[in-house]
Amino acid sequence: MTADRPLRTAEVIAVGSELLGSTRLDTNSLYLSEKLAALGIELRAKAVVGDSRDDLAKIFRQALDRVDVVVLTGGLGPTDDDVTRDVVGSVLNLPFTEDASIVEWIEQRFSRRGMHMPEVNRRQAMVPRGAIVLDNPNGTAPGLFIEHEGKVVVLLPGPPRELQPMFERLVAGPLGSRSGSERIYNTVLLTTGRGESHIEEAIQPIYSTWREETPPIETTILATPGQIEVHLSLRSDDPVKAKARLTSAREALVAALGEAVFSLDGRPMEQILGELLRDRGLTISAAESCTGGLFLSRLTDVPGSSAYVLSGVVAYSNRAKTDFLGVSPDLIAAHGAVSEPVAVAMADGIRSKTGASFGIGITGIAGPDGGTPEKPVGTVAIAVVGPDGAAKVRTLLLAGSRSMIKFWATQAAMDVVRKMIVRDEAVCRH
Ligand code: AMP
Ligand code: MG
Repeated sequence: MTADRPLRTAEVIAVGSELLGSTRLDTNSLYLSEKLAALGIELRAKAVVGDSRDDLAKIFRQALDRVDVVVLTGGLGPTDDDVTRDVVGSVLNLPFTEDASIVEWIEQRFSRRGMHMPEVNRRQAMVPRGAIVLDNPNGTAPGLFIEHEGKVVVLLPGPPRELQPMFERLVAGPLGSRSGSERIYNTVLLTTGRGESHIEEAIQPIYSTWREETPPIETTILATPGQIEVHLSLRSDDPVKAKARLTSAREALVAALGEAVFSLDGRPMEQILGELLRDRGLTISAAESCTGGLFLSRLTDVPGSSAYVLSGVVAYSNRAKTDFLGVSPDLIAAHGAVSEPVAVAMADGIRSKTGASFGIGITGIAGPDGGTPEKPVGTVAIAVVGPDGAAKVRTLLLAGSRSMIKFWATQAAMDVVRKMIVRDEAVCRH
């Protein structure tokens, strides 16, 4: 039996009481969301439910009403708390039969390790009528693929290392062949240095018109400290046209946002900056106070960063700023450790000590303590001394938790370097 209508929408139900606690997160739905989108099937809702027959039955019934494809993960094991198979069979009113080949297969798995199969494992061999069994080379729980009144129900094992290969090998193909010719296409651009409402103000008049077009482009703006992402997506049956349309849409946004845009493909700032440095044969060193090494940690997360990262110092105490970077105690006494003159002296110090094209100095108050009325928590001075020896320095007032302020400060510092390179190619050709 094939579904007469293309499958377009899906819901994921993650089953497992441990996923309701404070220590385990459902990650299977993240994986499935991306894989389903690639097949043109949009994830419309997801649920996490404990190992309770009643709760699962209710949620599963609702999902069947709402969407074309219901994917359930977890709860396929041999124990009493593994209820997914039973609940799905009874809600769909399908009788179960024991599949002898599954019993044999599980028996073999045990006997290879010199053990007998416990009787409880027979439960994993109970198959609802009409279901296709998805074999599991990475565990004992087989999956199930059920077509029912034009809908598809897929049962997958909970452990990601079992679920993912099973989906790729046995589920993606059959779902893709029933999901029609439309696929979902995406693009993303990343910005920094401007607030969410400024970004919205600049691009809303542009993207609001795309909603009226056929097919419409969906726009989502995601703001995190130091980075705003603009995601565009489009459903289409023509890959060439869809990609061209997303590219021209993205270009319209870039024209409106200018140099606030640093990435056209989702690559993070450390990678974009790394490429700019590497391509021009430039090098970088950093003297960090409040960021505690995060600036260089991020830059060195990128493979091949040894081509441009030279060195760094975490100069947290005043003494370290003087001893390692030659920052004068008088300067610190006159302006305070968190000040533009000290940031410049740190940047100068690390640059001249290491011979890098760029020296970075970051000093600030990450909080939650240590703020004063003149220099509240979130005050960060960032200095960059470039290849010509001239310094760029700025003071930011950042909001958020300690870790957010640290991240944001490194992002802002990288962005200063990025802009110096893209704005003034001539300066950088030393
Ligand atoms: P189960 O198939 O219910 O026996 O799940 C076995 C194990 O798979 C659990 O203990 C989790 O470690 C993992 N797991 C189950 N569901 C999920 C999920 N939705 N996301 C990530 N891991 C999961
Ligand atoms: Mg479980």
